[in-house]
This record gives sequence, C-alpha cells and structure tokens, in this order.
Amino acid sequence: MMKEKFVAIIGGGLSGLCCARKLHAEGCSWKIFEADSAVGGRVKTDELDGFLLDRGFQVLLDNYVECREQLNYADMDLRAFEPGALVRYQGRFHEFSDPLRKPSSIFRTLFAPMGSWRDKIKLSRLRRLTDPRQESSRTQFAGLTTREFLIKYGFSKRLIESFFQPFFGGVFLESDLRTSAGKFRFLFHQFGTGNATIPNLGMGEIPRQLVKPLPPENICLGVKVESVSRQGVHLANGDDVDADAVVVATDQTTAVRLLGEPEVDQPHGVWCVYFAAPRDERRPILVLNGEGTGPINSLCWLSAAADGYAPEGQDLASVTVLQDAGDSGEMVESCLTQLQDWYGDEVTQWRHLRTYHVPNALPKQGSTFETGSRNIQHSSGIFRCGDYMEYASLNGAMVSGRECAEEVLRQLG
Ligand SMILES: Cc1cc2nc3c(=O)[nH]c(=O)nc-3n(C[C@H](O)[C@H](O)[C@H](O)COP(=O)(O)OP(=O)(O)OC[C@H]3O[C@@H](n4cnc5c(N)ncnc54)[C@H](O)[C@@H]3O)c2cc1C
Repeated sequence: MMKEKFVAIIGGGLSGLCCARKLHAEGCSWKIFEADSAVGGRVKTDELDGFLLDRGFQVLLDNYVECREQLNYADMDLRAFEPGALVRYQGRFHEFSDPLRKPSSIFRTLFAPMGSWRDKIKLSRLRRLTDPRQESSRTQFAGLTTREFLIKYGFSKRLIESFFQPFFGGVFLESDLRTSAGKFRFLFHQFGTGNATIPNLGMGEIPRQLVKPLPPENICLGVKVESVSRQGVHLANGDDVDADAVVVATDQTTAVRLLGEPEVDQPHGVWCVYFAAPRDERRPILVLNGEGTGPINSLCWLSAAADGYAPEGQDLASVTVLQDAGDSGEMVESCLTQLQDWYGDEVTQWRHLRTYHVPNALPKQGSTFETGSRNIQHSSGIFRCGDYMEYASLNGAMVSGRECAEEVLRQLG
C-alpha cells in the first residue's frame, strides 16, 4: 500500500537522509532531490595532500541519543577528544576540565586563574541543574539567552569571558552568547556526560553511513528544486515531479523561501583555517582563546585525536574564527601572528592548507526559541524538517528528519 505513495524530499543533508531512511524502512516510495553534487549538506570532508578537511570544525557528541540510534559508532571508528579545554589566559595555557570526568585535572582546574572558587563550585552544581531528569529546573533557563542565564546564575564576568564565551561561542558560532539558554542547558549536559568525537576518516563518514542502506537511484544529485506545491516539486531544469507528499529538508533560509514564509534572520557564519605542522606530541583537547584579543576563537589538533586526518609525520590544526574576516589572506596572517604568540618559533614551520568560510552554518536560535514550536506539516501534503526545528545540531537534524517521516507516514497512512 505504502509503495503506491511517493514522497519527494528536497535536500540530502542529515535531516533529508534520516527522513528517507525511515520512509524506506516502512516501504514507502521516495526520492531525494539534492542541489549539490553529494549528500551530507553541511557535513562534508575534503581531501587535500593526504589531509582530511571538514568543512568547518565539527564534533559528534557520542551521547547524542538519535545519533546513537542511527549510526554505527564502531564502524565509524570514532576518536575522542579529552574532556574540558586548555584556555589561553594571561599569556599562558591553563587546563580547565570537569574533575568528575577527569580526576587528574582537579588541581589544575581548581587553581586555574579564569574563575574564582565560587565559580568552580557553581560550575559543578550546574551539572545537576542541566540534567534532563531535573525537569523542574527547566524553568530557570526559560526565556533567557545563555549570557543572561550565566549572569543570573552568578558566574563572574571573568569566567564568562574567558571560558564560556570561547567554548560555547565556538559551539553556537556566536560569541555574544545570545543563543537560547535552553540550548545551552541541552549542550552543557551533553558535553558533561559524553565525549566530543570525530570519525577517524572525517565527519563525512556520517552522511556516508546514513546513505549506505538507501538505493542510489532514489537520490538525484545536482538537481535543484525551484518551487513546491501540494502536487509535487518544480525543478530548476524545468521538469515537474508529482508526489503524494513533499518534504522540505533544506536549511531554514531556503525552507522559508520555498514555503512562502517571512524571511528569517541571517544564520551564523564561521571561518575555519587549516594549518599543517610537523608531527609532534600534541594533546587532543580543545584550545580556547580566553584573552578576548586576536582573531582566533579556538584551535584543535585534529590529528592528535584522529591520526587519519593527517599524513605520516604531519599534524593538522583547525582554527575557528567567529568574527567576520573580510579578506581571508589578511585573516590567515593575523591568525599566524596570534599563533606565534601562543606557540613561538615552531609556527614558522606551519603551512596554511585551506580556509573555509561557511556563511550559513547555524540558524539563529535566540532566547524565545523552543524545540517543537513549529509544525512538521506546513500545509496539506507539504512537510518540513531540518536542524532549525530542534536545537540545531547533527542530532537535531536527525531527530527532525525521522520525526517528519513518521508524520508523513501517519498522514499518508
Ligand atoms: C561549521 C559548522 C560547525 C558545526 N558544528 C557542529 C557540531 O560540532 N556539532 C553538531 O552537532 N552540529 C554542528 N553543526 C550543525 C550541523 O552540521 C547541522 O545542524 C546539520 O548538519 C544540518 O543538517 P540539515 O539536514 O538540517 O541541513 P543541511 O545540512 O543544510 O542540508 C540541507 C540540504 O538541502 C540542500 N538544498 C538546499 N536548497 C535546495 C534546493 N533548492 N534544492 C535541492 N536541494 C537543496 C542543500 O544542498 C543541503 O544538502 C555545525 C555546522 C557547521 C556548518
């Protein structure tokens, strides 16, 4: 019965792929129309001279519930970073970790100068407050931005600026911390209880694994959808494809255009600058700029966590810049100046590999954003999914895609 129904999915990012997987598993006919030449959307990995370059620094938190359901972690050969961070502050690097996760870091963390003792006690209490089982604490985050929550909770300006700002600025891709405190609550818990990981062969392994069980002939690459209606989709090449249901699985900016809704705020963008360096003893831990000066928000030695990212004898550093850089050549130069200040003369041996600018990296999700606030069904026969429906993340995109397919199946039932 379901085989007679046909669903047109626009977009082959993680949400579109997870929507297709569910429809496929239930025996429904479907096709993905993807404008790009490959699936994966915002999750792609390029190869350059034996280095694996993700299009923007991303990590998979291994306790994301939906990711665990959809992915086979063992096959992906996930490699974990050390919990916590090394924070550059007052001209030195200081370790800042959760002593419950990494007991050996307790003294270094307690004596790190970025926050007071009071801050550190509050930090350990925050762990309990962000636990999703503490349903009653949810109201403490409601209607606030992350910055407003951190101030209200009593953290010092010093800790907010030297730790929360670069850490969560790098997660939200905005350093003002205007993102909803609800999203902060969700992610603080995820970071506190799981590992930040990357697949040894790059983040592109995620869509590669998701697409594996799907018939390739159902995935139309290089096919852009121009408009949608309850009858089906109109392609940029002029063709029309009839469908019983249409799923818009694009980024939010494209989705509102296709669905004829009011424009949304410009998404957050980010720059990612890759450097090659001679192989050395380097720690697989996030390095944060806690000083607030210079272009760099954070740095990560990807090859220290996952040796597949760099060829023999070399290391790969990924540098994240949140400010709008304008000229990318000048930005690379100013990153190198700052890196020289951090790491000294060894930086003269580093080689700039490539710079990625991702202008459409994450949707803005401010203080009023709540998950589940948008209807999956837009109108008769037209449905939507994408990271912007949930707290935008790999996990959110996957949840949204699967839930959308469930709704489509119910309606077509
Ligand atoms: C730099 C960066 C860092 C990130 N860091 C993390 C992180 O550390 N952890 C985390 O969990 N998440 C992170 N994310 C977020 C995560 O990658 C995204 O939330 C998720 O990949 C979005 O998936 P999606 O399917 O909703 O959208 P997309 O990936 O945007 O997929 C939409 C697809 O639709 C296609 N499309 C658009 N218009 C059309 C059209 N007209 N016709 C046909 N096809 C169309 C696009 O080509 C694209 O393939 C990061 C994202 C970026 C960019």
